[in-house]
Amino acid sequence: MTTTGTSEKLFAAASQLIPGGVNSPVRAWKAVGGVPRFIRRASGSTITDVDGNSYVDYVGSWGPAIVGHAHVKVVKAVAEALKAGTSFGAPTPGEVDLARRLTGALPAMQQVRLVSSGTEAAMTAIRLARAFTKRARIVKFDGCYHGHADPLLVRAGSGAMTLGVPDSPGVPEATASQTVVARFNDRDEIEARFRADGEHIAAVIVEPVVGNMGVVAPQPGFLERLREVTAAHGALLIFDEVMTGFRLTWGGVQTLLGIAPDLTCLGKVIGGGLPLAAIGGRTDVMQLLAPVGPVYQAGTLAGNPLAVAAGLATLELLTRPGAYAQLEERGAQLEEGLRALLRTHRRAGCVARRGSMWTLFFGVDAVRDARDARATDTAAFARFFAAMLEHGVYLPPSQFEAAFISLAHSEADIETTVRAADRAFAAMG
Ligand code: PMP
Repeated sequence: MTTTGTSEKLFAAASQLIPGGVNSPVRAWKAVGGVPRFIRRASGSTITDVDGNSYVDYVGSWGPAIVGHAHVKVVKAVAEALKAGTSFGAPTPGEVDLARRLTGALPAMQQVRLVSSGTEAAMTAIRLARAFTKRARIVKFDGCYHGHADPLLVRAGSGAMTLGVPDSPGVPEATASQTVVARFNDRDEIEARFRADGEHIAAVIVEPVVGNMGVVAPQPGFLERLREVTAAHGALLIFDEVMTGFRLTWGGVQTLLGIAPDLTCLGKVIGGGLPLAAIGGRTDVMQLLAPVGPVYQAGTLAGNPLAVAAGLATLELLTRPGAYAQLEERGAQLEEGLRALLRTHRRAGCVARRGSMWTLFFGVDAVRDARDARATDTAAFARFFAAMLEHGVYLPPSQFEAAFISLAHSEADIETTVRAADRAFAAMG
């Protein structure tokens, strides 16, 4: 058995001082049980807790750690920036470089503004869409998560889904009633919504590959249809690529599929593990933002020089030829290994994967939407999670989250993981 005494003590102390002992709900491991590990350090694909246990890490800081933890080039870039001062509240050259990188990679992103979190990016996208269209209603999909701004905490995925609170108290009814919820991958429903209510809908916001009910891919034609329907009704299409941006390819799902959303949210990878996110899109929409236009948005630490340095260094590493091919290879290796184990252990489940994002769903053959996700065997997932931890693999502590592979994950790491899963399946009975 692994020793967890120090984590236990810290969690007990933290629980007195911090609600639930954590600063973001899923970290409390409510869905899987057990004591969350307090982390001392991480390097490459390995994360080490305060009791000295090391694990192959598939949380990857929930997405940002795509080049591996504490990559020497990222650390160096941040250290250099640090020496020059941590924050000035004034523009810096790096912000121009990062804006150039982002707009260069995403053709639909003509202008971009940096913010500090994905929540802010999505919140600003909604405000911009409402101002641009002069309409109030927005459409989101059941099980998609776009951060915790009021209009988006309706049938939300991720931690809200894990904890069974997809509709949060504290969101006024007047706000929630302006959010229309549709089923992911259901083209007929979205068409019906627009037929009924099209002139009131400001925007459709979607995770183009969902990560927040576990990984759920769009069916062919679904995103294309969203583009057509929104355009036909004068509504904006917002791709929330906070998770998928620069994770699946250079750019986003939109570059893979050749779809041009009106607005795009980015986060996670583009900040290289520091607090940074972005909202960007069509110039005519972005020009509504203050100080050019009347839509207000601001941030004391927006475009923070340390975060920009980490983001630029991370993106630079992703320009290395073969970077995304390597992530795909490792992903395929893991997927094959896990699929074979499901067969040999005769366990019901499926592996959902896009590139380096993956989820092992228990109890179902496929997950197309939130209804399928809710039908998964979360108790089996919890047992699997605990057994994997025992065998040195640190997974996201919920069935409704994506796991992430980084460029630091070696073939040997994947083999270790598959061997651990073999033992975990055996231990689960
Ligand atoms: N959108 C998506 C698709 C996300 O996955 C997340 C975070 N998991 C967010 C928005 C919110 O980002 P943040 O946690 O940085 O506020």
